[in-house]
This record gives sequence, structure tokens and C-alpha cells, in this order.
Amino acid sequence: MEYPGNLFVIAAPSGAGKSTLVKALLELDAHLMVSVSHTTRAPRGQELNGREYHFIGEPAFRAKIAAGDFFEWAEVHGNLYGTSRAAIEDRIAGGQDVVLEIDWQGALQIKRLFPQAVLIFILPPSWDELAQRLNRRGEDEPAVIAQRLANARIEVSKARHFDYVIINALFETALFDLKTVVHSQRLKYVSQQRNRSAVFAALDLIPSD
Ligand code: GDP
Ligand code: ADP
Ligand code: 5GP
Repeated sequence: MEYPGNLFVIAAPSGAGKSTLVKALLELDAHLMVSVSHTTRAPRGQELNGREYHFIGEPAFRAKIAAGDFFEWAEVHGNLYGTSRAAIEDRIAGGQDVVLEIDWQGALQIKRLFPQAVLIFILPPSWDELAQRLNRRGEDEPAVIAQRLANARIEVSKARHFDYVIINALFETALFDLKTVVHSQRLKYVSQQRNRSAVFAALDLIPSD
């Protein structure tokens, strides 16, 4: 599959700042859109169905797996999460750049299916800081936070399979790093040839060269 749009896959342990970074990135970049996953997790206080996630029950989730509706899915912290095929294939086929905020298991599934995907791992600056962010966010029960911190050890060990690593110590620096990765992908020869075809034609650079 050669699609004109880029697929950016972002993973991180819970609390590293992935959602905050992606939200800021999308506000700066009108050519990017985020895919809204399905999950069996209960919504948090401010979360809206269809905005952060499509919240569905486990039987409905299992039915979607059986129907082949997911591009990837995984069990994370005891809940099921999945990216719907329709949400991303149509968009990248239409030249849109898409961001997935998914766990490392889903990210590695995507890389196998779609090797052009750009995998980005967000690391916290330390374990202490990760715990503080989860507590400060105040969205999860203490037992859920403890489970997420325990899982974070395993998740962080998967960063070596990713193309890029961004350390989210100072937020603005991490956001700049994320923008840089997106921008450099768009400067690749094949992207420039596709998006700046008038310049390429004026320079007699033909697509098969
Ligand atoms: P967060 O870790 O605080 O952002 O908490 P969430 O409950 O929003 O996400 C839990 C985990 O599920 C994270 O690792 C997400 O990246 C992951 N996740 C979310 N959506 C998907 C998805 O569609 N597929 C997969 N494989 N993982 C997902
Ligand atoms: P994730 O989506 O990875 O679980 P969030 O984006 O919800 O993480 O961030 C977790 C918490 O840490 C939020 O309260 C967020 O405001 C805060 N946060 C994110 N990045 C930074 C940073 N660089 N410095 C301090 N706090 C941060
Ligand atoms: P939370 O429950 O805190 O929103 O998310 C927990 C984890 O699930 C995060 O690491 C998040 O990235 C991951 N996640 C969210 N959506 C998906 C998805 O569609 N697929 C996969 N594999 N993981 C997801």
C-alpha cells in the first residue's frame, strides 16, 4: 500500500504527556488529524463520546473485532482499545496526514502492516515526574494510577523499536521536537515530489526519475 498521506503513531506510558502534546500539535497544524479510537474504558470526567474516544461495551468491541473493523487493537491496563480501519485508510489514501495515539502493541502491529508509518515514543524525564503528572492530572483512582505506573516499566522498554524518541521534560521543547519530526517527514523526496509537483515539473524532474 503506497498512500499519499503520512501516518504518525505516537505511544507513551500513561501520564507522559502524549495527549497534551498531540492536542497542541493539532492546533498548530491544519493538515494533521487525529484518529478517535474505540475503547471499553469508562469515560473520565471531561471526556465526550466521539471526541476523546468512541466509548463502547465489550460485546460491541468484540463484534467489531470479528467483523474486521479494526486496523489494530490491543488490551491496555485491562481495557480494550482499537483503531478503526475506516477512520484512517480513507484519510491517508486521500492525502491527509493522520496521528494515532495508541499503545506500543498497536504501534508495532501498524509498523508490520504499514512500514511507512512513523513511530514516535514519548518518554517522561523520570519515574518520579511520571508519577507526579498522573497524580496532578487527578483523573484516575489511586489503584488505576498504580497499575499504570507498573505497566509504564514495560512500555518504556519498547521505545527501542520506535523510529523517534522525544523526552517530554520542558513542554515547549517536546512540542518543537514533535513538529520537527512531522516536518522532516514532509520534506522527504517522495512527499515533495507529490506536493510540489509544479516545481518538480518546472525543473524537468519527472516522477519515474
Ligand atoms: P492515557 O495513557 O492516560 O492517555 O490513557 P488512555 O486510557 O487514554 O489510553 C490507554 C492506553 O491505550 C494508551 O497507551 C493509549 O495510547 C492506548 N490506546 C488508545 N487508543 C488506542 C487504540 O486505538 N489502539 C491501541 N492499540 N491503543 C490505544
Ligand atoms: P498521556 O496522554 O500521555 O496520558 P497527558 O497529556 O494527559 O498524558 O499528560 C499528563 C499530565 O501531565 C497532564 O496533567 C498534563 O497537563 C501534564 N504534562 C504534560 N506535559 C508536561 C510537561 N512537559 N511538564 C509538566 N506537566 C506536563
Ligand atoms: P487512557 O485510558 O489513559 O485514555 O489510555 C491508556 C492507553 O491506551 C494509552 O497508552 C493510549 O495511548 C492507549 N490507547 C488509546 N487508544 C488506543 C488504540 O486505539 N489502540 C491502542 N493499541 N492503544 C490505544
